[in-house]
Amino acid sequence: MTVDYTASAPGKVNLHLGVGEARPDGYHELSTVFQAVDRREVVVLAAHPERPAVASGSVVARLETTFRVTRPTEDIDTPRNLAWRAVDAAVEAYRRLAPAPAPLPPVDLAVDKSVFVAGGMAGGSADAAAALVAAAAYVEDFTGFRLDDTALLREAAALGADVPFCLQGGTALGSGRGDELCEMMSRGEYWWVFINPMVALPTGETFACLDDMRHGDASLVPHMGTTRLAQALVTGDPRRVAAALHNDLEPAAVALRPQLRRLLDVAGSRGLKAIVSGSGPTVALLCEDALSAINTRDEIYDQYDEFEAVFAKGPVEGAVVQ
Ligand code: ATP
Repeated sequence: MTVDYTASAPGKVNLHLGVGEARPDGYHELSTVFQAVDRREVVVLAAHPERPAVASGSVVARLETTFRVTRPTEDIDTPRNLAWRAVDAAVEAYRRLAPAPAPLPPVDLAVDKSVFVAGGMAGGSADAAAALVAAAAYVEDFTGFRLDDTALLREAAALGADVPFCLQGGTALGSGRGDELCEMMSRGEYWWVFINPMVALPTGETFACLDDMRHGDASLVPHMGTTRLAQALVTGDPRRVAAALHNDLEPAAVALRPQLRRLLDVAGSRGLKAIVSGSGPTVALLCEDALSAINTRDEIYDQYDEFEAVFAKGPVEGAVVQ
């Protein structure tokens, strides 16, 4: 008999992504506005109280991922998986913070992915956020010790720059590496079609390419201001928000994956505005309403074998245990 903890966390789209200078630690200074969308990753942590408890090292015995989007060629069911690392981080925090930490039962992890892998939508970070809250519930049930929000946020930021936002959800301004968050006011709901060109694009490559391109092109300045978008978000009008969408990384993503030019044109002609999502290669198309998003997704699905398309709305809540 297992004791199961099921948690979910949202993927994200960057409504604004301003990229400043590269910092000495290798990260770039960002000014970004995140919106959480209802492509939710689900993590089930199954604890085995009948098996010998674990006093040190990882409590995770195995991890298995299932895919509602295209399965990647790489095997991600390893201890490097962010969901696995998040459980380890929560347990280590408990062992560090509790006055007399107790051994814990081993766990199996099941990750159900709805967010494209390596797509610029923070799927791995959402898995980490969901695993963190599931692990906190498991630790509290088996030991009575509560990892508070501050402890969870600290572990989230150590796991990755997008993990704090996946934990928090909603709409937020991110500065620093994108992990210093400030909640933003947003009215209404926004309907998106996310279209993946089914090619990989590692995040680091896109940032490095932008740095190179900036040496030769004075127009590629950082756009760190978010006032126009902030004003648009309080109107609740998707047309105003569409006009304020911006991504400094887009020219670099298009330079590295030229098929994105065509995808941006295909998408842009069907909705209010298409932009590259985060570091790409997924393209986010903001639509007028739910019906338009669903119809557009269906059209792209029917007409383009080389693209994978899903629809989603935002903003939605962050990581929760169900
Ligand atoms: P971001 O938008 O935060 O830059 P992303 O959405 O582009 O991230 P992810 O799907 O989070 O990218 O994964 C990037 C890489 O991280 C993968 O190629 C894989 O090697 C590794 N990885 C580790 N854990 C996971 C996970 N749970 N899901 C997907 N990839 C993972």
